[in-house]
Amino acid sequence: SESGSSCYRVVLIGEHGVGKSSLANIFAGVHDSIDSDCEVLGEDTYERTLMVDGESATVILLDMWDNKREGEWIREHCMQVGDAYLIVYSITDRASFEKASELRIQLRRVRQKEDIPIILVGNKSDLVRCREVSVAEGRACAVVFDCKFIETSAAVQHNVKELFEGIVRQVRLRRDSK
Ligand code: GDP
Ligand code: MG
Repeated sequence: SESGSSCYRVVLIGEHGVGKSSLANIFAGVHDSIDSDCEVLGEDTYERTLMVDGESATVILLDMWDNKREGEWIREHCMQVGDAYLIVYSITDRASFEKASELRIQLRRVRQKEDIPIILVGNKSDLVRCREVSVAEGRACAVVFDCKFIETSAAVQHNVKELFEGIVRQVRLRRDSK
């Protein structure tokens, strides 16, 4: 077995307002972690060691997709540096769902030969009355894009822990099959 903990860089992407930073903030305060404190590496970078299936994994979470101050290069940078991606849309915003598809295609183009772990995340699942994208549509989209799918609510903290555990499992699956 390996010595020390594996470290994965996970990048949040998706339209402005879908809840990326809200998810990142929950990650920063996630329960069940080994460290009692989350290390904030920069204003939009968080590092945390999680216990997943009895093994520790350090996740460095990048939430800089909407950082306009840094200019457009930041998005290219995000597309290049992730070991795994969380493509987030809001279930209350169909345009953000369509944007998620665009991002999946873009990611495939930038990282052509790589089999990158991705989870398609339908956030704001608590807003049932404002739903514009069904669970079935989200799931079908994930099948087409060959990635995992989960609906979350950052507001009521539903499935958020499962999301971060899920992305660790996806990275491990690929590493283990090499
Ligand atoms: P970002 O632009 O993708 O980083 O999105 P934010 O995390 O800043 O969230 C945008 C807005 O949506 C804020 O007002 C959040 O409080 C709200 N929001 C985020 N996640 C949820 C959620 O799961 N449910 C609800 N009801 N609101 C949310
Ligand atoms: Mg944000």
